[in-house]
Amino acid sequence: MNSLLKLKLVKNREKPVLYGHPWIFSGALDKPPETTGSCIAEVLAANGKAIGTGFYTPHARLAVRMLSLAPDAAFNATLITRRIEAAINRRKSLLNAQNDSVRLVFAESDFLPGLIVDQLGDILSVQLNSAFAETYRETILQSLRTLRKPRLIVDTSDSEARNREGLTASSRIDEMPEHQIINGGIRYALSAGKAQKTGFYLDQSENRRIVGKYGRGRRMLDAFCYSGGFSLAGLANGAVSVHAVDSSEPALELFGKNLKLNTAKISSEAKVEIKRDDVFTELRRLKEVGQQFDLLVIDPPKLATSRSKLPAAEKAYKDLNLQALHLAAPGAILATFSCSGAMTFEKLRQVLHYAAHDAGKQLQIIRPLVQSDDHPVLLAFPESEYLRGYLCRVY
Ligand code: SAH
Repeated sequence: MNSLLKLKLVKNREKPVLYGHPWIFSGALDKPPETTGSCIAEVLAANGKAIGTGFYTPHARLAVRMLSLAPDAAFNATLITRRIEAAINRRKSLLNAQNDSVRLVFAESDFLPGLIVDQLGDILSVQLNSAFAETYRETILQSLRTLRKPRLIVDTSDSEARNREGLTASSRIDEMPEHQIINGGIRYALSAGKAQKTGFYLDQSENRRIVGKYGRGRRMLDAFCYSGGFSLAGLANGAVSVHAVDSSEPALELFGKNLKLNTAKISSEAKVEIKRDDVFTELRRLKEVGQQFDLLVIDPPKLATSRSKLPAAEKAYKDLNLQALHLAAPGAILATFSCSGAMTFEKLRQVLHYAAHDAGKQLQIIRPLVQSDDHPVLLAFPESEYLRGYLCRVY
């Protein structure tokens, strides 16, 4: 008999857990025990059979995050260190002279619920977004120091996620020092107080490479450009011009720096226009002035923040794509994305279909686009798949 707290599930709720889904919501717990502190607990099916070990957060809706399905798992600090090491080892082949930036730990997908670790050059950007990760903060940070020997570890935790777990905000992204990374052969500046999320959108690393290859000789539109990742990939591949738009001044400042850092790779003839504006407004203005593009990237922030907001978000995705299609020259390439988990590939395709119809265009799908290799999707955890896109040709 072990001394762990026992959590019994209500009838017929064990199946997803046994199939590897790492989340148990409070409604699936039968008479949750009276305890105030978060802790490791043994999870039992309704018939009393032990089915695994999880981390219990008493007042959270997401009450249990599974840690193991092994019946006798002794979950401790050593196991956490081992999981971090395994996650890092899985990424080793992604780090090289042209790429010093990669997501080392992708939370549940790497069996470390709520923990995100991005390597950004010699700095690690860490999100402790669950009570589990917070409880083991010191073990996690110490393991990372030993395994990666970073110059600095910056806490970039998501305060909303922490709030849901009853934790106070802890992000110190303002302390992200001025430094540089190289990602897919392109240099990027990261500066204090200017970065979003963990500091860099690593999930688009592979897509920038794929889309960039279509740059040669093309006039490019980069909507929601942040620090210019897609633009720089296009320019490095011979795009003749870029019109980039984002509403964030700090992001555009970074873009300006990134252009300078990569001058050796970019033709001095290329015309680059970086504009601070709302994309929805700017796309309409571009249509009015009759501007056309041959390579269009639409990479909005998460428009459906929850499943209930999906219908409104679908309208926004449709509008964005419709406006973009108005600006597409015949034979143009469109790379369009959604990072809303609730927006499935089917839904995105349907939205594109409606937009294409309204714009009077035909779309050929060249390929679907997914989050980079360092953001693997756990088959048992569909929630880990969130970035979806299509690379299309427009007629
Ligand atoms: N394409 C970028 C990542 C985009 S993230 C890259 O490759 O790195 C989404 C971006 O949209 C953020 O930079 C945010 O500042 C910007 N944004 C959000 N809402 C916007 C709006 N309505 N108009 C313009 N930019 C917006």
